[in-house]
Amino acid sequence: MTEYSCDVIRDLLPLYADGSASENTKAAVRRHLLGCAECRKFYSHQNRELHSGRAGEGGGKYHYLDVVKKIRRKTVIEYSVAGILLAAAAAGLMAKNRKKKTKIVFPFGR
Ligand SMILES: [Zn+2]
Repeated sequence: MTEYSCDVIRDLLPLYADGSASENTKAAVRRHLLGCAECRKFYSHQNRELHSGRAGEGGGKYHYLDVVKKIRRKTVIEYSVAGILLAAAAAGLMAKNRKKKTKIVFPFGR
């Protein structure tokens, strides 16, 4: 029933929230939010983050960008942690194999 997928609408929400979207975009987002409870939840959650902490200070636009950066940084950290854990698990596995004097045979030659 909606014109755009939820992904598209969620990409547009920052522009919608800070008022820099075009009138057509704003109208489309508004229509989608009216008909989509999931995106409404997503939007209100985003707004809560926006208005928590430094609420009322300066233009919300810059604060919003801070939030986006924070979220991105968090994602990067999560990926790094996952990578480190994976490396640690691999190292642990290798150490275990070495203790048992098992030769590790790599499936890709050498
Ligand atoms: Zn939606």
